[in-house]
Amino acid sequence: MSDFLEQIKAFEGRVIGPPAVALDAVNEAMIRHWCDAVGDANPIYVDEGAARANGHDGIVAPPTMLQAWSMRGLGGRTGTTAQDDLLRLLDSAGFTSVVATNCEQEYVRYLRTGDRVTTTVTIESVSEEKQTALGAGHFVTSLQEYRDDAGEIVGTQRFRILKFAPKPKVEPKPKRPRPSITRDNAFWFDAAKEGKLLIQKCASCGQLRHPPGPMCPSCHSLEWGTIEASGRGTVYSFVVNHYPQVPAFEYPLVVAVIELDEGTRFVSNIIGVDAADVEIGMPVVAEFVAFDEDLTLPQFRPAGT
Ligand code: ZN
Repeated sequence: MSDFLEQIKAFEGRVIGPPAVALDAVNEAMIRHWCDAVGDANPIYVDEGAARANGHDGIVAPPTMLQAWSMRGLGGRTGTTAQDDLLRLLDSAGFTSVVATNCEQEYVRYLRTGDRVTTTVTIESVSEEKQTALGAGHFVTSLQEYRDDAGEIVGTQRFRILKFAPKPKVEPKPKRPRPSITRDNAFWFDAAKEGKLLIQKCASCGQLRHPPGPMCPSCHSLEWGTIEASGRGTVYSFVVNHYPQVPAFEYPLVVAVIELDEGTRFVSNIIGVDAADVEIGMPVVAEFVAFDEDLTLPQFRPAGT
């Protein structure tokens, strides 16, 4: 057993603080407020006659009020009990979050007005480390025993919490922003998915053009075809982008205008080289990068690397 497990296991069986005597004896006012709050209309809790007609000696308290009689109020926590020590120990080991997981109550007899409850709390068990959906943690079960003036148990409550180390949130890397795909340029992105770098070519005058468009800027023809580029070119111009950083990209980000060997220019990124080593005129070759399942784009790296 690890030292830590041994330390927390040592709390099993320890009593939390001295027996706590209820601030108020079981009384009609608190019972009535409780029944109002939870919407319990059973008359044996508020009507003497109804209680007697059901075999009680007088008004009785709802069994589920058991814990309410022992509550110490907002100022009641001392921070000095064995349970506080145990929770601090778990905090120090990274199990900083807490969630209540189970509450089981057993009722031995009805509480009657005038009963004054005394509560003792024992740390019943501390589990070894468990893997849960919330994160790794230890279950801590405490047993509350409620006694009447004669020292007889009137009810018990087992309360279980999980002290756990919250899982770090893993944010998936955001996808690269989508290009704006239209009927005029869809052919180009479809070809890129297949690893082809196309250049639009006017069917009338033969001029190459990029980016894609419906009309030849030279002869105004609407007829066009494509050629497949060699993928070779040179750096015509570039910038190194540091800010603002968009999460989908790696920085520093080299954004370059590439002059393809065929003559058209093309805006892309330069990869596979330190940003400081990029130069105008540098020979580059296209490499198709699949950023995700539906976006593949040509990027350029220095020729011969
Ligand atoms: Zn033309």
